[in-house]
Amino acid sequence: MGRLICLSNRIPTGANPSGGLVVALGDVLEETGGLWIGTSGETTDLPDATLREIEGGPFKRLCFDLTEEEQENYYAGYSNSVLWPLFHGRTDLMEIHQEYLNTYKRVNRRLAKMLAPIIQPDDRIWVHDFHFLPLAYELRVLGVQSPIGFFLHTPFPGPISMQALPNGREICQWLSNFDLIGLQAERDVRACLASMVEIGGGSDLGGNFMHLSPRQCRIEAFPISIDAGEFKELAERQIEELPDGIVKPNRSLMIGVDRLDYSKGVPQRFRAFGEFLARHEDWHRHVSLIQISPPTREGVQAYDDIREETEYLSGQINGTFADIQWAPIRFINRSVPREVLAGLYRASQVALVTPLMDGMNLVAKEYIAAQNPDDPGVLILSQFAGAAEQMGQALIVNPHDTEQMATTMLTALLMSRQERRERYHALMDGLTTQDVHWWSKSFLAMLG
Ligand code: ADP
Repeated sequence: MGRLICLSNRIPTGANPSGGLVVALGDVLEETGGLWIGTSGETTDLPDATLREIEGGPFKRLCFDLTEEEQENYYAGYSNSVLWPLFHGRTDLMEIHQEYLNTYKRVNRRLAKMLAPIIQPDDRIWVHDFHFLPLAYELRVLGVQSPIGFFLHTPFPGPISMQALPNGREICQWLSNFDLIGLQAERDVRACLASMVEIGGGSDLGGNFMHLSPRQCRIEAFPISIDAGEFKELAERQIEELPDGIVKPNRSLMIGVDRLDYSKGVPQRFRAFGEFLARHEDWHRHVSLIQISPPTREGVQAYDDIREETEYLSGQINGTFADIQWAPIRFINRSVPREVLAGLYRASQVALVTPLMDGMNLVAKEYIAAQNPDDPGVLILSQFAGAAEQMGQALIVNPHDTEQMATTMLTALLMSRQERRERYHALMDGLTTQDVHWWSKSFLAMLG
């Protein structure tokens, strides 16, 4: 078997790189003598012309630096201020500037030129995420014939959104140069097929094959996941280590864990919790919401706005309902170590995973994996998370519907132990069968 070459925007760093993708791909990279390629996270004055090896680690890693201008226009610009909002149904937040697109193409072309000479004929290439949409096209121009797969970690936009992007057609053409396009959910596959036909001018050949001259590609759903067994063990260990004051007698805990991104629906969640408290005075002092939200993409206006709105709402709800013994919302605007998170999930009776749009949402899966099977908590999950297609035994909500969310919070808090167990076991069975190892194996088996 040839080598696997993986590309992702940020290369896993450190002597022992960690993270979901490393867990999923580390073994096959090691077995095939493969490579992982990505940006270093550092900036440089002059663009690199060759890839640089990172010392140590269980598999070979090659990286390159971005210039300040590339960081600004390729990363913060086209990737995060055009593609991210577009792919999350927020075309109104797209910032269209020609220099963003020019730099995005230039970075992908530069990467293709550094990569092409090291590709061997039997290598397989797996490109991750929206930072590298043109990469297969650029590699084909340079004569690379190897199988190239792509996995998009976000949702895929349908034709109505895609037509808002001035170069939507070009994106479809780029994508057709991948042999296999992996998406998170069936809804994304439907959206992608429709966009490739309506915006890209392709022909749907049936059976998830698309012809977009001169190439043919296959588009399939591969829902990403976690290592459920490993996370379960982590939570079991960590529940003993929880800091004092988190768990209180006669008080239920609800938890939300999301980067502070406008796609995550945190303000809608806070409003629904405010509505719940307004309706149910008997629950005052008996329930708290702990929301852990590290800042992300600071300096981009839409992210500054969401932070301001979230801080305002938590202050307003606490101002309305808090008393000396109780504050309804604890809003923590920083990252916490993974093991602490695992313990907090296990200590929480309810998880609120209510994004307005999300590729998958791994927090939903982590929460279930962390539960005590004898006395599990309840997951409230947005219908707009890719995870909702697999996790139908959660309480599924529309995050825009404040009334429904508030009612569902009460349902979750009052749910019998028997029903919680039944739902948990069904969800956990799914997580164990289709874990992150299943995800990477099924993608690579189809890539060939
Ligand atoms: P996204 O990739 O859009 O951020 P996901 O829910 O798919 O959303 O993945 C988020 C990952 O980041 C999860 O593994 C989660 O545990 C982790 N995470 C989110 N918020 C925090 C936090 N405050 N501290 C530590 N880890 C976090």
